[in-house]
Amino acid sequence: MNEKKAVDNVMHFLIHNSFLFTVVIMCLVHATLLVLSWFAKADTIVLFNVLSVIVYLFCIILCKFGHITPVYVSILLEVGIYAAVSVYYIGWQCCSYCFLFSIVPIVIYFGSFIFKNSKRWIIVLSLGLIFLEYSILYIYYSEAAPIFAVNDGLVSVFTIFSAFVMFFSMIFYNTVYIYSSEHEMNTLEKENEQLSVDAKNDILTDMLNRRGFKPKVDEQIKNADKETFSVAFCDIDNFKRVNDSYGHECGDEVLKHISRMIKKEMSDCDICRWGGEEIVILMKGYDLNKAVDSMENVRKLIETVPTVFYNKHIPVTITIGVVEYDKKYKESDSIIKVADERMYYGKQHGKNIVVFKDADE
Ligand code: GH3
Ligand code: MG
Ligand code: MG
Repeated sequence: MNEKKAVDNVMHFLIHNSFLFTVVIMCLVHATLLVLSWFAKADTIVLFNVLSVIVYLFCIILCKFGHITPVYVSILLEVGIYAAVSVYYIGWQCCSYCFLFSIVPIVIYFGSFIFKNSKRWIIVLSLGLIFLEYSILYIYYSEAAPIFAVNDGLVSVFTIFSAFVMFFSMIFYNTVYIYSSEHEMNTLEKENEQLSVDAKNDILTDMLNRRGFKPKVDEQIKNADKETFSVAFCDIDNFKRVNDSYGHECGDEVLKHISRMIKKEMSDCDICRWGGEEIVILMKGYDLNKAVDSMENVRKLIETVPTVFYNKHIPVTITIGVVEYDKKYKESDSIIKVADERMYYGKQHGKNIVVFKDADE
């Protein structure tokens, strides 16, 4: 687990600093080539490597200030010129043309950051130019004698080093690309999961909202032949007065406090913030008697435990309508509507009560 975290950290660092990392590596490559060509006594190549190192030192500064496009152009020009001069001067057998291939992933990786949508042709053009240069160099110089003959031992060193740079570049950018796409996929998946949770939950009370709650009631109606259930519709009494007297923030605190108490008391139930100060409870396995007893407990609890807001005690009460499932309820809306009507009846008859019968029963 720790190893994975360490790899993750390194990859994050490399991805976030990939442009800077690239130019630092390019600078080091040319510093190495400078030493090699100095050993080979190939003065012209030494000079070109000094210039290349200076170019990349300058690119490091540009990267630090976020100027990526000039860095992209510099890499293309520098590698293009260096490969041509090197092949011409120390010969095809030193394999400097490999540097052309080593920047292919860089051109694609950098290019895809810099050039979006209709500007993507610039990447294709850059790749086309690289291939054209390789072809021209091959046609004119693959058989030609070099201007300066490097001794056989150093030719091998140049060849292996150029091949190494090419391999390193391919492996590095592919790894970075795969890792960052996987990372992006994981992030998107997590965000999607969070979005679907958010879509079904109420942020203030951390309870289900209607979207998350109604399917649960519908599901219960489908399984009602196996297990009965009841629904309660709760509404805080005179809640507007709480807001008007103590402010909206206090009203929110009362809502949270009542939600917490109901969740604790009815922990085996699905609970939903139906609307502003309305809470609906799905009580699976509860017949009417058990549901009414439980709601009576909830009512008393809320009546006796006030919300504390900045040392003030805010007492509130709730009115609850309760209904047990019956075959006539075909979907969630119809059974919830009956619970709502009973609650409304309670509102008109003194509030702070549990109503479990219709007015005409
Ligand atoms: P009743 O006893 O008849 O239910 O009266 P009431 O004042 O509770 O009901 P009414 O429908 O008149 O007012 C409900 C109030 O609830 C009005 C609205 O400002 C408040 N409210 C709705 N949602 C929220 C919320 O998220 N936070 C706060 N603080 N208040 C809310
Ligand atoms: Mg109310
Ligand atoms: Mg209301």
